Amino acid sequence: MEECLFCRIARGEVPASVVYENDEIVAFDDISPQAPVHTLVIPRGHYDNLSDGVPSEVFSAVFSAVPEVARVKGVEDGGYRVIVNNGPDANQTVTHLHVHIMGGAAMSHGMVQMERS
Ligand code: AMP
Ligand code: ZN
Repeated sequence: MEECLFCRIARGEVPASVVYENDEIVAFDDISPQAPVHTLVIPRGHYDNLSDGVPSEVFSAVFSAVPEVARVKGVEDGGYRVIVNNGPDANQTVTHLHVHIMGGAAMSHGMVQMERS
């Protein structure tokens, strides 16, 4: 059994505000939202990140859920940003592959702020 936080959320062992789920993925609101809508999509299976040999069908399940989640969250028409923080330099803090869906307000064009060059 994987003990990582998002595995535990996927198994229903840790409470989360689940907004959409199916056999392959779970989507839940971020506990510390950085936009009016900030929802995460995770595969039920554990993969550390994009570099962890993720099968194409898992990518397919995760990314095909994104517009569904956007619809549920009411940002489909207004638009939204999709972010994957992958590894240390990107500040990935939870080592279970996840996609951030952020929207609900207009964003600036530049999306990356560097801590250092
Ligand atoms: P990242 O920095 O890309 O690894 O993003 C991890 C995200 O998970 C952060 O935005 C956190 O706020 C979020 N997070 C951490 N713990 C929880 C939790 N228990 N429920 C929902 N979101 C969480
Ligand atoms: Zn996990």
